[in-house]
Amino acid sequence: MIPGARLIILGRQGAGKGTQCVRLSRHYVVPHVSTGDMLRGAVRHRTELGVMAKEVMDAGGLVGDEIMVGLVDDRLRRPDASTRGYILDGFPRTVTQASGLDELVGERPLHVCVDLDVPRDVVLARISARRVCRDCGTNYTATGGERQPWICEVCGGDVMQRGDDTPDAVNRRLDLYEEQTAPLIEFYGRDRRLAKVDGVGHPDEVFHRLTSTIDHYRT
Ligand code: AMP
Repeated sequence: MIPGARLIILGRQGAGKGTQCVRLSRHYVVPHVSTGDMLRGAVRHRTELGVMAKEVMDAGGLVGDEIMVGLVDDRLRRPDASTRGYILDGFPRTVTQASGLDELVGERPLHVCVDLDVPRDVVLARISARRVCRDCGTNYTATGGERQPWICEVCGGDVMQRGDDTPDAVNRRLDLYEEQTAPLIEFYGRDRRLAKVDGVGHPDEVFHRLTSTIDHYRT
């Protein structure tokens, strides 16, 4: 396997993007660029961006396109991404962001945009059980039997429910996904840069489906 890939992973919140992106990032030796994680980092550090983003994120809205394209532009210019590639998770969320990305990447275009497909009722159940390490972003699934406080196995940070995983905010984000992000499927489908992958099943099985599909586009 030759390292390197330039990918977008689309999918409803809770489709397993986070987990699969970590695995794909190791497999292809490329950075996992999660705009949600970048914004949460900015919120933690109380930067100007973080203060603005917190309000939008808490309300389940979307941060402005221009800000998001700028943020991703800075990240993709760093040597790891500019030499080997990237896995974008949570970006683009709108057609404006997708067009912005095409302009940024120019001569080294995307290999494929993967639509990790998991039905809405399945993701709602998954999100209510989702817990995440506040420090390193590792995802966990709550079963109810965890010892509290819950400590991350990877870095020793606090494992908690995200502030934006409340039922109201989740439903609002899923509605936003249908409204604003679904057109991306059409955008990438138009010039055959879209691959739909079934995201239901054991994570190993889903990972295998993903790499088979991605490798088809990398060659
Ligand atoms: P995520 O972790 O990808 O679900 O992102 C959490 C929140 O960050 C989203 O609900 C948005 O408020 C914001 N966000 C993340 N990525 C983007 C993006 N590409 N465009 C706009 N807002 C974003």
